[in-house]
Amino acid sequence: MKVVMPGDKIGSTEEYMKGKGVYEEDGELFAAVAGYLVIKDRVANVESFASIPEVLKGDVVLGRVVDVRNTMALVEVVSKKGEERSLTTRSLGFLHISNVDEKYVKDISEAIGYLDIIKARVIGDNLRLSTKEKEMGVLKALCSSCRSEMIREGDMLKCPECGRVEKRKISSDYGKGEW
Ligand SMILES: [Zn+2]
Repeated sequence: MKVVMPGDKIGSTEEYMKGKGVYEEDGELFAAVAGYLVIKDRVANVESFASIPEVLKGDVVLGRVVDVRNTMALVEVVSKKGEERSLTTRSLGFLHISNVDEKYVKDISEAIGYLDIIKARVIGDNLRLSTKEKEMGVLKALCSSCRSEMIREGDMLKCPECGRVEKRKISSDYGKGEW
């Protein structure tokens, strides 16, 4: 199913009728919430991601980055800190570029990489995440060229296999094997 973000264009009002989670502007339909786009009988609906009842604002979670977009990373949340077992419900969290680092981040792909494992704090509804704190950020990253696990070298990550150097918002727990 297609994942849409608030403000993503779905189509025109001639193509589809407005369902839930959708707003109209100048004859075009846009997603009002983040979720899955479902089109049935020409009605466009955005079904917002199921909220995880086990996860609350303020919690620290572990997740895997499944998509990196212009201003947002999508994170599959798999565990909550303080609980030994994985979450029974898996859901997608959202890390907006403005919540990645205390420092200004111009390009999210220079802070968060596809398939990175990250530690993040839940800061709002619909699993809105932040990695601004020192302990938050990337815990484990793979080289985008050869897929080896990267090793921390100061503020950067280096691939032990091919020597590639990449930039990330690195957690102070990077490479420790615990979070
Ligand atoms: Zn490499």
